[in-house]
Amino acid sequence: QEDVFKKIVSHCKEYGFVFPSSEIYDGLAAVYDYGQNGVELKNNIKEYWWKSMVLLHSNIVGIDASIFMHPTVWKASGHVDAFNDPLIDNRDSKKRYRADNLIEDQIGKYEEKIEKEVAKAKKRFGDSFDEAKFRETNPRVLENLEKRNNLHARYTEAMQGPDLEALKQIILDEEIVDPISGTKNWTDVRQFNLMFSTEVGSLSDQANKIYLRPETAQGIFVNYLNVQKTGRMKLPFGIAQIGKAFRNEIVARQFVFRMREFEQMEMQFFCQPGTEMKWFEYWKKHRLAWHEALGLGAENYRFHDHEKLAHYANAATDIEFKMPFGFKEVEGIHSRTNFDLSQHEKFSGRQIKYFDPEKNESYTPYDVETSIGVDRMFLSILCHSYTEEQLENGETRIVLKLPEALAPVKCAVFPLDKKDGLPELAQKIVDDLKFHFNTHYGDPKDSIGKRYRRQDAVGTPFCVTVDHDTPNDHKVTLRYRDTMKQERVDIDDLRSLMEDRVSI
Ligand code: ATP
Repeated sequence: QEDVFKKIVSHCKEYGFVFPSSEIYDGLAAVYDYGQNGVELKNNIKEYWWKSMVLLHSNIVGIDASIFMHPTVWKASGHVDAFNDPLIDNRDSKKRYRADNLIEDQIGKYEEKIEKEVAKAKKRFGDSFDEAKFRETNPRVLENLEKRNNLHARYTEAMQGPDLEALKQIILDEEIVDPISGTKNWTDVRQFNLMFSTEVGSLSDQANKIYLRPETAQGIFVNYLNVQKTGRMKLPFGIAQIGKAFRNEIVARQFVFRMREFEQMEMQFFCQPGTEMKWFEYWKKHRLAWHEALGLGAENYRFHDHEKLAHYANAATDIEFKMPFGFKEVEGIHSRTNFDLSQHEKFSGRQIKYFDPEKNESYTPYDVETSIGVDRMFLSILCHSYTEEQLENGETRIVLKLPEALAPVKCAVFPLDKKDGLPELAQKIVDDLKFHFNTHYGDPKDSIGKRYRRQDAVGTPFCVTVDHDTPNDHKVTLRYRDTMKQERVDIDDLRSLMEDRVSI
């Protein structure tokens, strides 16, 4: 699985999806640039989200707030005081880790041991194997389960607060070693704030310090009154936005999964106090359905309900996707109560309320948030789509089986030959189609087989070939990416054959 992931990362670079940032200067850790195909895929993901969340919901509107905000915003939201990760260093390797990640990996190790025992027994006993009974009675499974549960309970308690000494004690008691040096030479655990800061104006003074937003949500909360009043919005209603967020992540792992600069698609849904759990359930269902509609397979998603809730939340869950490195969070759904609006009311001194004409009273609305990372979504789609196929002639075909509507290029048109007016004919087809969906012209210098492979590698669902019969019969060969099936169709039918399948 790790190997597959490495191949996906190099495929992304080779085919213009993702490049390391500032690569000619050897890159910048945890920062990436999207290339010519990557940006199209990313734009399509954003359009798919925006359409479903904003355009199809009459009670949700969008905004585009600034990255820079008044510094008091981050005081009010709790980020200045509490947006921290617990860090620990290893004195030998001089590497820095998140203490919580080290412990979570250790919990994962006990879980792996249990699954290994089960898999071994399954192999040994075959069809007659009673898995549930085995899990309840096997001494090695029970021993590891107890260790796992004890550790999990200690960890959950230590993370409340968090209690930094307790976290360190767990790392010592569990004899967790540095994955690089293999040693146990740990420093104390300390808190590290994840926000990037800079200065406005010419004075480098504490008073001029501002932050790069670590989430897009606050831009929505501070505009709640503006939107509610100017849009005459009635509860329940939502405000959505897509934009960049910045976090000084210490352990930057797994390519675009965890970056220091990334993009979020967030929607805050304001509702009457007391109805928030109903909406929380509604958005859980709706968001999962959105993911599943892409066709990546319902079995690749799961909910992970949070046991430990952030101070502002009364319910929270993640939608996780099965990446090559395990099930990982792509989206968070949080019932944030009236925390954010109340805090901004307190810190700004302005009344931030909703006047309910039916109840004839004013109150602070409750809020349910859906927050998804564009880059994580991008990665989950790429990982799922990357396929290596063994062909009958012994060759291997690498094809990105992207959802057709999200593919960067929808159609590539090739003239079979440089002569006989075929390039002009092909160009004319491109010129007609490109107004409806992204259509490229493929130069005839490579063999047709090579041209097909290149389009397979970027996930183009349709290829059209103009050959020597085309000037006479007005027909072309339409080739389908996934099946490689080819059929002869009239040029005038091309658009209708493709349009429904590729539109978002
Ligand atoms: P994690 O636990 O993985 O750090 P989180 O719970 O802090 O994520 P949220 O604050 O809920 O994440 O942010 C909402 C979404 O933003 C996440 O589900 C994820 O898709 C995306 N996201 C968060 N941090 C990053 C990052 N460093 N790089 C890319 N995407 C991110």
